[in-house]
Amino acid sequence: MAHYGFIGAGLMGLPMATNLLKAGHQLTVWNRSKEKCAPLLEAGATYVDTPLEVVVAAEVTFSMLADPQAALAICFSPSGVIQAVGPGKAYVEMSTIDPETSSKIGISIQARGALFLEAPVSGSVPQAEAGELVIMCAGDQELYVALEAALNVLGKKHLYLGEIGAASSMKLGVNQLMGSMLASFCEVLTLLEKAGLDAQDFLDIVGAGALAAPLFAAKGKKILTRDRTPQFPLKHQQKDLRLALQLGDTHHVSMPVAAAVNELYKRAYQYGLEDDDVSALFASLHSAECKPER
Ligand code: NAP
Repeated sequence: MAHYGFIGAGLMGLPMATNLLKAGHQLTVWNRSKEKCAPLLEAGATYVDTPLEVVVAAEVTFSMLADPQAALAICFSPSGVIQAVGPGKAYVEMSTIDPETSSKIGISIQARGALFLEAPVSGSVPQAEAGELVIMCAGDQELYVALEAALNVLGKKHLYLGEIGAASSMKLGVNQLMGSMLASFCEVLTLLEKAGLDAQDFLDIVGAGALAAPLFAAKGKKILTRDRTPQFPLKHQQKDLRLALQLGDTHHVSMPVAAAVNELYKRAYQYGLEDDDVSALFASLHSAECKPER
């Protein structure tokens, strides 16, 4: 069994780290808000006071953080990951970040003689709990091969996509599509409810035809029951659209659909919905559901 490190015990990090523990691995953890690690400590993990100490303790450290700013802070702060990496160590960045940030982190880690893998995931909290994520990997292929067992604990499928940046870009593409699909779904649901039709009938019709998708089934249920408990926080979907648009700028690709959809998600902040589930986009479109908070 390996000694792994895990940095980030948010909605996704907590179940992912839990699964590594359940698989019998030794785990050293750190999270900015220590209290979120309590279930991990009860299950046998060790808490240390800094990301640096996680890397010192573990052979391979995984991180699952909010965004590029958080990922950079964890790596480059005075008590950050970079201070402790070196030969014999490896770092796996699983946060959804842009390829430029991932490269900055990865190249700095490799320059110190350690191995680096970017490994963002597709799937939400239920899939993280069930160990059924889809894991997109890029970077040091020997690390990808060496982590086969751990990747199988965390996910149902993993792919090696090439050099650092490839997996981040792929993940942003996947979430650009998801954000657009969900925005359209919420817009249609709003229209049909306003037109006096039964939203459940719409879900049944969509679910029975060529448009059937687990995304629509899961988020449709949350919307109909007015359950905004976060699984995938709306602010992270907006961040992913922002980063996808940034990638579009880099490659001079016109992305009018993503740009319009990004504006819709940004509007949800006016209603204080950013920490709610991404499906709360419906509430911001359905004006009767909420009043602006700021
Ligand atoms: P989350 O619940 O918001 O957790 C974010 C984590 O980042 C927490 O551990 C948080 O620490 C930490 N963090 C934020 N800012 C920080 C900073 N400046 N310094 C140190 N730590 C910081 O998010 P999540 O849903 O687990 O998502 C994590 C990543 O996975 C994101 O990149 C997201 O886009 C991606 N993702 C999410 C889902 C999903 O369905 N939720 C699915 C696929 C991918 P605190 O606990 O102290 O706030």
